[in-house]
Amino acid sequence: MLLQYNATDLKLLQKDYYGPDSGAEWSRFWSVHRVDLHNGLRELAIQAQDKILGPPVDVKLGQEIAVVDCETGTIRLKDGRWEQHDLVVIADGAHSRLIEDFTGNPSTVHRTGRSIYRWLVSMDEVNTDPVLQKLYADPQGTCKSGFVAWGDKENRILWVSYKCRGGQVLNNAVVHDTQTGEGEEDLWQSPVSREQVFKVLQSFHPSVQKMVYMTSEDGIKTHHLYKRLPLQSFVRGKALVVGDAAHVMMPTHAAGAGVAIETAATLETLFDFSGIREKNTWTMERRLEVFDKLRVPRCNLAMLSSNAGPDWLQVPGVENEIRKYYSGPLPPAGAMPYSSAFRDVLFKHDEYQAAKECMDKTAKILSGRDGKETEDK
Ligand SMILES: Cc1cc2nc3c(=O)[nH]c(=O)nc-3n(C[C@H](O)[C@H](O)[C@H](O)COP(=O)(O)OP(=O)(O)OC[C@H]3O[C@@H](n4cnc5c(N)ncnc54)[C@H](O)[C@@H]3O)c2cc1C
Repeated sequence: MLLQYNATDLKLLQKDYYGPDSGAEWSRFWSVHRVDLHNGLRELAIQAQDKILGPPVDVKLGQEIAVVDCETGTIRLKDGRWEQHDLVVIADGAHSRLIEDFTGNPSTVHRTGRSIYRWLVSMDEVNTDPVLQKLYADPQGTCKSGFVAWGDKENRILWVSYKCRGGQVLNNAVVHDTQTGEGEEDLWQSPVSREQVFKVLQSFHPSVQKMVYMTSEDGIKTHHLYKRLPLQSFVRGKALVVGDAAHVMMPTHAAGAGVAIETAATLETLFDFSGIREKNTWTMERRLEVFDKLRVPRCNLAMLSSNAGPDWLQVPGVENEIRKYYSGPLPPAGAMPYSSAFRDVLFKHDEYQAAKECMDKTAKILSGRDGKETEDK
């Protein structure tokens, strides 16, 4: 369910139901605590050999990469060691240093003047306020996930909240204009006082404001929001770049990690161990071409649409910019974020299927015989 209210008087602005019975495209909508997501992904990566998932990953912590030579697939670690690999996946996030090795130019990542406050509160505490309790009530009893949001257009503030951990915990995220001196140290999470947050949220309804002072384990953190110029290619030599390093974006459509996870599905499909013979450079190169063909349009669509804000396609020039990379369908210009037409484009995408189809098509073209890729060239 998406419920968006006016911040001051709690007038309902948008209501969209996307529980399990609202159509297949939302049957897998999840609100997840970041720590739980990281733990879940790590468990999947390191679990014992699995027929479908392949051999377990050897996760090595504290191994900072200082330099990548993309053409040769060589990396230098911070402790001075050099390693050479068949494929290097650059995934060092929004503050990527390695993107400069990838492009050969200074990073184009820059602050936007917008920041986000984030904190978690317990739903038990939220429910002590009768107004809040009503806002988060789920009459159908089927919709544990979803957003409740408040917007103050005049002050350019959007507060989005969603339940996670089985509905026990409420995640709050407030996008606002960066306040003087806020988060200057530029960490992933810089602490900010409740008084400061309260001051920014002066126009909000008193019940909603209450959540600023509710118990929160780590207090409230603030984080600058960034943009970067789109990349024309995510591949260089024996390296590719994924995630925020390739396409950091505004959180407008909550799509950053979503598209990065799609990319993981692309990698899983294209670089399935059984499909590539050891040291087959020719096949690797063809697969990397397919990778670019699949990911540049989709990731740049997500980034450019997120960076243009909720009115994305109505913003002059945005559609033209998107069309430089992406030729698929777009929702009508006035479609609200998370509305059905919008979800069809941004979220109803099966990357496993797209990658498989693209591989099959490419293999047919390359081999010219029975869809079998020529592995020995
Ligand atoms: C406030 C906020 C809310 C968000 N909400 C959502 C949401 O609801 N849905 C969604 O889909 N996305 C959301 N996002 C976006 C999402 O968090 C990012 O898109 C995602 O974390 C990107 O993953 P990543 O692996 O590319 O980068 P990161 O998660 O930043 O990971 C990068 C990793 O690389 C490591 N690293 C950095 N440099 C080096 C180096 N030199 N050597 C080795 N390792 C290195 C770092 O330690 C880190 O572990 C949100 C982002 C923010 C800021």
